[in-house]
Amino acid sequence: MNYLIYPLKIMNITQTYKNDFTHSRHTVGTPKDYPIDDNCGSPGPNGYFYCPCDNMVVKKIFGVGTTSTNVLWLESTTKVVTPTFNDYVTIMVAHIEDSELNKLSIGQIFSRKEAIALEGKDGLATGDHFHIVVGRGKINGTGLIKNSNGIYVLNTTGGSIKPEEAFFVDNDFTKIKSSNGLNFINLYSDNNTSDYYYTTNNLNVRVGPAVSYNSINIIPKNTRIKVIEFTNNWAKISNKEYISGNYLSKDIPNKYYDTKNVTADLLNVRNNPNGQILKKLSPLPKGTTIAIVSEKGGWTKISENRWISSKFIN
Ligand SMILES: [Zn+2]
Repeated sequence: MNYLIYPLKIMNITQTYKNDFTHSRHTVGTPKDYPIDDNCGSPGPNGYFYCPCDNMVVKKIFGVGTTSTNVLWLESTTKVVTPTFNDYVTIMVAHIEDSELNKLSIGQIFSRKEAIALEGKDGLATGDHFHIVVGRGKINGTGLIKNSNGIYVLNTTGGSIKPEEAFFVDNDFTKIKSSNGLNFINLYSDNNTSDYYYTTNNLNVRVGPAVSYNSINIIPKNTRIKVIEFTNNWAKISNKEYISGNYLSKDIPNKYYDTKNVTADLLNVRNNPNGQILKKLSPLPKGTTIAIVSEKGGWTKISENRWISSKFIN
């Protein structure tokens, strides 16, 4: 399997996409990206960026010989396996010095764990580090797009991905000094897909682990769902919600829905955005797990012909 692993030997993340220093404008605008800064363990140019998967190509280099921040784009030439999807990835790395980028050539292919370039502080960096952003899919357009805050963010065909949802950590390769609060998944743990399963059919959600229990909701096919435990082939997805284990798979579909939970005490289900209230499997009690199939004008589609207000889910 072509797993995507964290690309540094020492993880010491000094700023995540959640921090409020220079990265906040990336995540509050549209479109977003999710950058991390990592100084490879200590100040100074002492760490390399290693190729995170096999068959990754140097796609684009920007900024060499100018005062603009240097940026390197790497693209996988095959689909890779991440904790949350199986697809091509594009990685953007900033602040590498001219001298390092001059050693690279467009089209050059690297294998997993091969050193690509030393960290630097080219551009506006306050110290030597890598600014790393991951996107699903291939490079789109110039690889950059201006967001609603006027900040350039990564532009890929599949959109930007949070680092902990993109990289596994290979503990034989990377020592974690600080993940700055991000929860990365160990490549070698038994649940390295984070206990997530994907529904292979539309499923009734029941209040107990048998067909005799009441059905309270429907989770559509191709929903990514976290399973707490299995009981007699029933998957417990919350304290009061069970789905049949017969229609769950570890195979990641090309496109899947994420889930959220109902925050209102009781939430009406409607046949359309702001449409008629349905009598069957409605209202949904607080905590109910729902799939985000699509969103439209403050309304969320949770399965075929079933919509709820987006205000009361989280
Ligand atoms: Zn940064």
